[in-house]
Order: sequence, then structure tokens, then C-alpha cells
Amino acid sequence: MKGCLSNKARGRIGHKAIKGGELSLLFKVDLENLIYSFIMGELDANISYKESVELRNGRKTSFWYEAWSSLGRLQEVMGGRGHIDMGILVNENIEACRNHRRRSHRVNILNRVELEIERYKENWVDEEDISLWRNSKGKCMKTFSTSETWQNIREKHTLCSWYSAVWFKHATPKYAFITWMVMLGRLSTGDRMKNWNANVDASCVLCNNPLETAEHLFFQCSYSKQIWEVLMSVGKSVHGGIE
Ligand SMILES: [Zn+2]
Repeated sequence: MKGCLSNKARGRIGHKAIKGGELSLLFKVDLENLIYSFIMGELDANISYKESVELRNGRKTSFWYEAWSSLGRLQEVMGGRGHIDMGILVNENIEACRNHRRRSHRVNILNRVELEIERYKENWVDEEDISLWRNSKGKCMKTFSTSETWQNIREKHTLCSWYSAVWFKHATPKYAFITWMVMLGRLSTGDRMKNWNANVDASCVLCNNPLETAEHLFFQCSYSKQIWEVLMSVGKSVHGGIE
């Protein structure tokens, strides 16, 4: 097993891993940055898994929020006043700095930023910037993977003992989902619905027992009992008896 448990192994709904590059080719969108923005919007903005950027034309790289310079992320280094002191808008990309006129400042850090801008201008080439993504092993990669990013940002949990009984190969998704709800005690059975609305009919939909619970529905209900008996007899005839 890999270092991290899958969502299903934790008793949750699973997800499918996709590679950003593959979908970018299909949809002609910059999926990497799209997903990156989504993740950043969902989480604390100080947590970042886009480690740094190899700067080329600066077109896709945020001036303030990405670690393109030797100073790191300038928003973190310079705080909220940085964009006012430098005269560069908060949401500006680095490419906008090609017309930036170098100035001399009294504060040393501002002069260092001016120097970084000059360095960018000198090294400018008409190629796309290359994002470097930190993977789960701590290495920087040039390709983006939602799977790797997910492994990086999520909390680690223990193995759920019943997950393989719910999520298994060739399972029917609808039935797996219902079983999953049962295991979590989240099925809308009569007893639970009564908590939400005292006037609701809480009787069993199959046998009219006064109170429908998950336990009753699957194991105690006279109707379910008949189904279990049929299934058991089919199992016996196919497999020659179940121990
Ligand atoms: Zn019943």
C-alpha cells in the first residue's frame, strides 16, 4: 500500500486522479493554474504546493503571490504595502513589469525587488513560464498531478475496517453508495426522519413495522428476511453451501 490511504479506504467517497497536462491538451485551458487557484481559494492562502517558477516570459506568473524571485513570495516578504511602494497592482502578472521603470528607494528591500525585475527583463524569452510542483515525496516536478497535490494537502487517517465491503471492483455505484450511507448511519430511515419532523410516518416501508431503523430494514424486517433466505439458497446452490 502507498504511504497514504485512499479516500475510500478511510470510509469516504473516492476520487479519480487526473493529470493536469493531459486535460490542458484536451480543453486548451491552463488547468494547472485553474486547479491551483481552486485549491488556494479553498485553503489557507499561506499554504502553497506550487513550490516555485522557472521564469520565461512571466505571462502566467503572479508578481506578488508566486515564488519567482530569489526573495521568495513578495507578498510574504513585503506585506500589504508592497504593491503601493512598488506601484505594481496586487493581481498583476510579471509580464506587466516589462514596462516598469527602475527607481531608487530608501528602503533596501524595495531596491532588491527592483533588481529582481531588472534580472527578469534581461533574461526574458518568449516562452511560457514553467511551474515547479512539490510532490508527496518532497521533490519539485515540472508536471502537475491532482493526485500528488491531493496527497500533499490532505490529512492522514487510519484504515476504515469495512471499506472493502462497500467499495470493491465491479460494485454497482448506486448500491455501494446506499451501503456506504448505512455504514455511516446516514440513511433517511424512519427513526432519523422523526428527529427532523415529529409528524413524519416512521413506519417500515416494507412491512409497516411501527419504527423503521437501518437495523430493522436490513436484518429484522420480515420482507428483508425473505430476501436473505432466497439469496442464501441461491448461494448454496451455486457454491455448494456457505460455511
Ligand atoms: Zn420492515
